[in-house]
Amino acid sequence: MAFVTIKKKTLIITLSVILAVVAIAATAATVAAATRTDNGITIVIDAGHGGADGGVTGVATGTKESDINLSISKYLMKYFQKAGYNVVLTRSDSGAVCGGMRYDKREDMKARKAVVEANAPDLVISVHCNSFPVASVNGAQVFFAAGANEGANFATAVQGYFNDVLNQKPKSAMVGDYYILNCSQYPSILCECGFLSNAGDESLLIGASYQEKVAYTVFSAVDSVFDAQKANGTPID
Ligand SMILES: [Zn+2]
Repeated sequence: MAFVTIKKKTLIITLSVILAVVAIAATAATVAAATRTDNGITIVIDAGHGGADGGVTGVATGTKESDINLSISKYLMKYFQKAGYNVVLTRSDSGAVCGGMRYDKREDMKARKAVVEANAPDLVISVHCNSFPVASVNGAQVFFAAGANEGANFATAVQGYFNDVLNQKPKSAMVGDYYILNCSQYPSILCECGFLSNAGDESLLIGASYQEKVAYTVFSAVDSVFDAQKANGTPID
């Protein structure tokens, strides 16, 4: 009964395919449910640099800023997602955002802007590390766009947490003329998480535990601002 056997095989294959499709759909639904944001707040996390553009480098170890930025961004994503935020990363690997074989800074920045605009976020957090010719300069500092009230509000909160939690000489949040802050209408902050030109900051920033601490500090500050907005009845969108 070769014919029946073939038909049976065909049936089994067809059923297997259907089951596989159902299983994949169920898995996708589970993943979507697990990562679905429940608080309705979207955050774009922008790990600065990437690809051919490594940013600044550590004075002692030569560690690239782009790698540290990515690592902190991923910790940030973890904390925000856990708290029910919808998180979008401009890049999730070491490559440039613009992709392609040839790196172009302008194209890369435009690609970041496109991610921001496509997601209409409630906040953009750009993650960077700083560098300065004077090696003793250290500490984390937060920037916002000129005239951006909401950005200033978030930046001031994060700076306050940095000053308290990172045990550093207090700094103030400042206006910064950065593309990522100016490229959209959405509230945006840029966190310089420390100076890679300072050996002390560098030794901290290259370690996972400090990266996680910085991320948790930024998350806590931002979360407190959204909580306050909710308590005040401020519309989030
Ligand atoms: Zn940078």
